[in-house]
Amino acid sequence: MSFSADVKKEIRNAAPKKECCLKTAASCFDVRAIEESIMGKCCIKTFLKTAFLEYGSVNDPENSYHLELVTENEQLSALICAFMNDYGMGAKIMLRNGMYVVYIKGAEAIADFLKLTGAANSLMYFENTRIVKEMRGNINRGINCESANIQKKIDAAFKQLESIKYIEKTVGLDYLPDNLRELAELRLKNHEMGLAELGEKLKKKISKSGVNHRMIKIMEIAENLKIKGEM
Ligand SMILES: [Zn+2]
Repeated sequence: MSFSADVKKEIRNAAPKKECCLKTAASCFDVRAIEESIMGKCCIKTFLKTAFLEYGSVNDPENSYHLELVTENEQLSALICAFMNDYGMGAKIMLRNGMYVVYIKGAEAIADFLKLTGAANSLMYFENTRIVKEMRGNINRGINCESANIQKKIDAAFKQLESIKYIEKTVGLDYLPDNLRELAELRLKNHEMGLAELGEKLKKKISKSGVNHRMIKIMEIAENLKIKGEM
């Protein structure tokens, strides 16, 4: 069964009992009769429930946050919209194929509607799905950040290799001072290695920032050679 059908089943099971509400429910969507029958909040709730059973549908929160009521009666759609907005649901009306579509978007508003209409189990499913979705979103953002960092490291290593190979090709690595030459040779043998790890592999261990400092020097030397080469 769809989420929408679940919600309707729950709403149907909680039929109105009070005299006033029964009148609202029986007003057959005659706008004047509805307005005359409404005695209080209980009747407004009954009206929204009855209208949803007749015209409404709601998307499974797993897919998207959307609830709508579709009717060809403009006045009725305006009334539904107004009552929803009395509860701060931010309902809007749009025209679709000559029909008036009252809709609410946003998880908060839809949860409010489920609460108002007494669809307690559906509300629970809705909120659980929403939490899981948010968590999934957070994890994905985490993964994206991580892969961005990995990409940055790869890009940096590629630039370093380019510089080192340029020096090797033009003047040879012996052109470099010993500490830089050792690092350059190490980088040539270990393309993917991180800076911290490279620092560990040097004869005289140095920190990540120390390695970074030397790498910058190597790249500067390569840049200078390139400029000279172009002159
Ligand atoms: Zn009532």
